[in-house]
Amino acid sequence: MIPKDHPRYQSLLLREKIVIAHQNGILAESGMIAHGRGEAFDYLIGEKTSAPAKKAIKAAAAALLVAENPVLSVNGNTAALASRNMVNLAKTIPAKIEINLFYRTPERVEAVKNVLEKSGAEEILGTEDEDLKHVDNIKSPRSTASPEGIFTADVVLVPLEDGDRAEILVNSGKKIITIDLNPLSRTAQKSSITIVDNIVRAIPLIKKETKKLKNEDPRILKKIIKEFDNKKNLDESLTIITPK
Ligand code: ATP
Repeated sequence: MIPKDHPRYQSLLLREKIVIAHQNGILAESGMIAHGRGEAFDYLIGEKTSAPAKKAIKAAAAALLVAENPVLSVNGNTAALASRNMVNLAKTIPAKIEINLFYRTPERVEAVKNVLEKSGAEEILGTEDEDLKHVDNIKSPRSTASPEGIFTADVVLVPLEDGDRAEILVNSGKKIITIDLNPLSRTAQKSSITIVDNIVRAIPLIKKETKKLKNEDPRILKKIIKEFDNKKNLDESLTIITPK
């Protein structure tokens, strides 16, 4: 039991969720290491949503709303920390949900599926290995996607994604939104819209922004997207981490 007045209470709570998710077969060992890397960056940004992250969140909400086939991708870390929030966001947009695992095993797919179902997900894509197709015909385990989901999506939210896969998805012409606490990661650098924030703070804020923008004129939404400069935004996030 972590005492509530512990200075690192929130951070330790997330760490505990990650450990439990690993014990329950949702998360691979490397998922715990990935979490540690994120934790270090969260420490540096002050464990709060920054101004550049808020700008990216607004652009992400606009992009998800104008999309024809928006898909939210869920991996082990996302399922461990933000399952209910992802399901709620998918319902608000509305968008599809697809399981997308780096270390994919039938057991882990099943464990993530169970978590999503318990969080209220009705349709979950990416559960059947044999249905998956290769994006742009690239024969790599990093390029697989569900035919009705990421494979045909125009906008994909892929939090905590691996750089190789992010690159494949961006090169296929899709708009890729990521959430990554490390503004220097390959995923952060390659994606179309990078939210440098903790997934546990970012997803509820995307939902809030989506609700706000839902009835907005599509031309205004497109303007928000057009005016967003990911490179500039990442530089702003880096300035927060390395103040002069
Ligand atoms: P890349 O291949 O894109 O360079 P990487 O190899 O550094 O990434 P991975 O281990 O594939 O990283 O993925 C973990 C990424 O997710 C890291 O950049 C880490 O900062 C980030 N991350 C971890 N936990 C969170 C979290 N809770 N919220 C947001 N980002 C997180």
